[in-house]
Amino acid sequence: MLRSSLPEALRSRGVSRRRFIDFCSAMVATLALPERYLAAVADALNRTDRPVLVWLEFQDCAGNTESMLRSDDPPVADVVLELLSWEYHETIMAGAGKQAEAALKRVVEQEAGKYIAVVEGAVPTADGGVYCTIAGRTALDIAREVCTHAAATIAVGACAWDGGLVRSAPNPTGAVGLQEAVPGIKVVNLGGCPHNVANTAAVIVHYLTFHQMPALDQYNRPLFAYGRLIHDQCERRAHYDAGQFVEEWGDEGSRKGWCLYKMGCKGPDATYNCPTVRWNSGTSWPVKSGHGCIACASHRFWDVMSPFYKPLPKVPGFGVDVTAEEIGWGVVGGVAALTAAHAVASVFRPKEEVPKEDKPA
Ligand code: SF4
Ligand code: SF4
Repeated sequence: MLRSSLPEALRSRGVSRRRFIDFCSAMVATLALPERYLAAVADALNRTDRPVLVWLEFQDCAGNTESMLRSDDPPVADVVLELLSWEYHETIMAGAGKQAEAALKRVVEQEAGKYIAVVEGAVPTADGGVYCTIAGRTALDIAREVCTHAAATIAVGACAWDGGLVRSAPNPTGAVGLQEAVPGIKVVNLGGCPHNVANTAAVIVHYLTFHQMPALDQYNRPLFAYGRLIHDQCERRAHYDAGQFVEEWGDEGSRKGWCLYKMGCKGPDATYNCPTVRWNSGTSWPVKSGHGCIACASHRFWDVMSPFYKPLPKVPGFGVDVTAEEIGWGVVGGVAALTAAHAVASVFRPKEEVPKEDKPA
């Protein structure tokens, strides 16, 4: 199939050269690459042959598809849609039924080893996987075939990563994440509920530029996005250190933007670049808007991090476990104690998730 070049495709979509460079610049920043990589990224994307992408949806709510399509500024959605040749995506493709399934079959047969597979949603494994079937085939069967023939597979959202909400007890369908359903395939997991499209775009841009996936953590999540504690990037952190907490919704602390720890914020135990990439065109993120983080990008967060409005029980790191309030009041005004408070973060942070410099080939 003859595919137009990326510059041609962007022109036809009305994306100017300036907007394209803005996009490249945003991707370089998201990937935590030095600015000097901007030219290399733009050049690589201009020359890409726009590999085929197939997007599979299993036990999902389509929230990750929505997250991707609703992006607008920088024009992530426009450029991502044109970076790749989208051949199969149930929610947005024009074709349906046998026509759609024929498109997927053609990709697996004719583009084997060259296409990118994106998976959204959990995979049911109970009773042979009968609880999610598409065109008469189980999700398990489709995932095995499509992902084992792909050049790279990306699992977007909590459900595709670790089973998400679908896997929470009692889990009657035996739902699991993609990696567990199809062991042996190499998956990049982009946790989050939903995923942030800026990170998904950055992974694709990294792959197209350097011909390899970015550095990953122990959960196969990209370090550029999941390598730092939310607590360490939060604009309310000074209030945590000073022992200034919101005690109830709408109180004085709430109006003054104080720390949301006591309202259940899980930021001290969650890693993600949510505070820097943000949402709604980079406008804000939940903690900035006044709600605690529920750790949606953490492993099995529906089970591990709930109840969402209950504070994390203890803050380890001072020889004995103490509450956040005790730390806060203990450090007010004390430089030495503030240093100790910052040490909390490194105690929380699993050693495997310590940020490393992303070193492209
Ligand atoms: S507990 Fe939550 S609101 Fe408070 S500083 Fe940490 S991440 Fe920010
Ligand atoms: S603030 Fe926390 S729960 Fe909310 S979107 Fe960001 S990472 Fe997810």
